Amino acid sequence: MTNNGALTPAQQLSKKLPQALQRLADLAYNYWWSWTTERVSLFRNIDPEQWENCGHNPAAILESASYERLTQLAEDPFYIKQLQSLVAEFDQYMALQDTWVSRVAPQTSQEHPIAYFCAEFGIHESLPIYSGGLGILAGDHLKSASDLGVPMVGIGLLYRQGYFRQRLNRSGWQEDYYVDNPFSKMPLELIKNDQGEPLTIELEVRQRCVRVQIWRTQVGRVSLYLLDSDREDNDPIDRWLTGHLYGGNQDTRIAQEVVLGIGGVRALTALGIAPSVYHLNEGHAAFCTLEVARQEMERTGKSFYDVEASIRNRCVFTTHTPVPAGHDVFSGDLMDSYFAHYWVQMKLSREQFMALGARRLGDPWEPFGMTVLALRMCRAANGVSELHGHVSRKMWTILYPDRSEDKVPIGHITNGVHAPTWTAPLMADLYTKYLGEDWKTRVIHPEMWAKVDEIPDEELWWRHHVLKERLIAHTRFRVKKAREQRGESYEHIQATETLLDPHVLTIGFARRFSPYKRGDLILRDAQRAIKIFGNAERPIQIVFAGKAHPADEEGKRIIQRIMEWCRHNAIQNRVALIEDYDIYTGQKLVQGVDVWLNNPRRPLEASGTSGQKVCFNGGINCSVLDGWWCEGYQTGPDGKGLNGWAIGEDAHTSDQEVQDRIDSQSLYQLLEEEIAPLYYDRDADGIPRRWIQMMKASIKTNAPLFNTDRMISDYVSQVYVPEIATSVVPILAKVIV
Ligand SMILES: *Cc1c(COP(=O)(O)O)cnc(C)c1O
Repeated sequence: MTNNGALTPAQQLSKKLPQALQRLADLAYNYWWSWTTERVSLFRNIDPEQWENCGHNPAAILESASYERLTQLAEDPFYIKQLQSLVAEFDQYMALQDTWVSRVAPQTSQEHPIAYFCAEFGIHESLPIYSGGLGILAGDHLKSASDLGVPMVGIGLLYRQGYFRQRLNRSGWQEDYYVDNPFSKMPLELIKNDQGEPLTIELEVRQRCVRVQIWRTQVGRVSLYLLDSDREDNDPIDRWLTGHLYGGNQDTRIAQEVVLGIGGVRALTALGIAPSVYHLNEGHAAFCTLEVARQEMERTGKSFYDVEASIRNRCVFTTHTPVPAGHDVFSGDLMDSYFAHYWVQMKLSREQFMALGARRLGDPWEPFGMTVLALRMCRAANGVSELHGHVSRKMWTILYPDRSEDKVPIGHITNGVHAPTWTAPLMADLYTKYLGEDWKTRVIHPEMWAKVDEIPDEELWWRHHVLKERLIAHTRFRVKKAREQRGESYEHIQATETLLDPHVLTIGFARRFSPYKRGDLILRDAQRAIKIFGNAERPIQIVFAGKAHPADEEGKRIIQRIMEWCRHNAIQNRVALIEDYDIYTGQKLVQGVDVWLNNPRRPLEASGTSGQKVCFNGGINCSVLDGWWCEGYQTGPDGKGLNGWAIGEDAHTSDQEVQDRIDSQSLYQLLEEEIAPLYYDRDADGIPRRWIQMMKASIKTNAPLFNTDRMISDYVSQVYVPEIATSVVPILAKVIV
């Protein structure tokens, strides 16, 4: 789609900049910059304070910078040199023809990309349309697809107010609030038609016609299209359809899923994009299969049942939820109000239509399940770790009554993380030095990571220490701001200056505060926890961050208990919680901690990815054997962990109280007997040699497996282009330390 000769927002911005800085606009409008090593200074150096104020938004910082400051930068040879070399790298990246995918799957083409649908995308903190792991995974998926040259477009929703923002009041209770996303100031482009008007698609939602416009943001070579119903010509209620991520009740939820699924397919058609594959990342997008079918029926005049097989052939599905209650289901009443007109268009009866989402056929009271619809309409389905694959097959045997559990057609592709995004620039620089200039393009190769052994202990240690100091400074800054904002006492505000100590063993725990993640497990036995944190010779400290969903009272109570601990006299400087968790704080945490803690109720963590981010920075995992850690954790002949620790080992019970006790005791024991002694065991130079050995093992064993380049190559060879499965050798042998 062209803008009919009109300038794109990037071009408009570029015209306002001094000549030597004009290409900054191209960088600002493509999130590629956010995974370069230069990301730390490129835009921030324009105006560090304003950079904070505008939420690290590159388009906004350029718009708001004074011409005086811009011309100052334009005559700074250091800045210009850095910019020119980055622009050269960017141009080369965007033009690259000889990509991984062009070698292994030349039959894929930009004409027929993979359309990747997801309700949330976590690309960067300046585009706050994500809530947690699912969104971050989707963002990392697009970034690696771009790096590997996989033709892909993303489809999502542009939420006017995104996910809620978090503030904690004086009693430690979470207060939720919302902030408007200023779309026109963000690195987004509103797609226009040939008349220069916003390109729109129409949908029938709750018996009203809703017009939806489409924004585009660039993630390297991948375009992410985001749908937005906030238009003046819509009913005021419908303008809020894309208001909030996971904000409303079942009614809002189904409406948003109609916009994502059905609207998403219509948007692709309007954009002239004809995907080869529709990838439904989680069930939220499953209605898209119906719209693909409806359009095909319209085009060919065939019945739904005649086109069904060809639609299945084009759709694939990834499930992320290991409990039945986590899958979206909609009542018959809701389905009537949203789809009564639609099944008529599909020439299906209500019964035929409802059967597509029914777990059990022939039961008129069965609600409509999005996962059921996705499994029926997709040729391939996968869970997100080996264990989650098992759990999913077991959960969905009901749909395949003639098959045994192990024959249920749900496989698994274990999640990963985008290495350049989550590796601290200071570590990336170290890898460039010891693993090679091109390390970022070779992250799936274990031989490359084996060279981590060549990094001198001292060098790894000082870099890690810098990142830990950075985390502590960030924590102090944020906690201080929160205390000021709550109007706490002067002493309490000043006390943040001694909060946490860079020489103390530092644990991180950050993720959504869903009760199953047991955020306060480490505090379960108060006496023991005080002894561990306050140990005079071998103290431990912990930094928490995370939001509880606004409707999740139990999650909010967990946060409140942690906040009580932050004020506890015996351990005041050893426990901190950073409010309003986002990608930026997430990066600081995974890059700066010694140990990453993960203690979900097994097997409820389908994969988990934050622990994988830690590995790229030399952090070590201490986790329940759930999700990806079942595949990552390795033990030596003595049964002890070689590249991290396992909480609770193999003791499982269905009694939650008992399980919490077993797991917390196991965690305390690990901290007291293994983790702290190892960390504080120093040589004459004060270097913890054995600890560094384990840091290196954590990097070497996990990095080549749990990255999204490996994950994307699995999706390409097993799901997107299965014909090539035998010719690609994407997963390399596991590295054994
Ligand atoms: C990685 C990440 C998550 C996912 O964490 P889990 O370990 O999967 O629970 C959530 N939120 C943010 C901001 C992240 O960066």
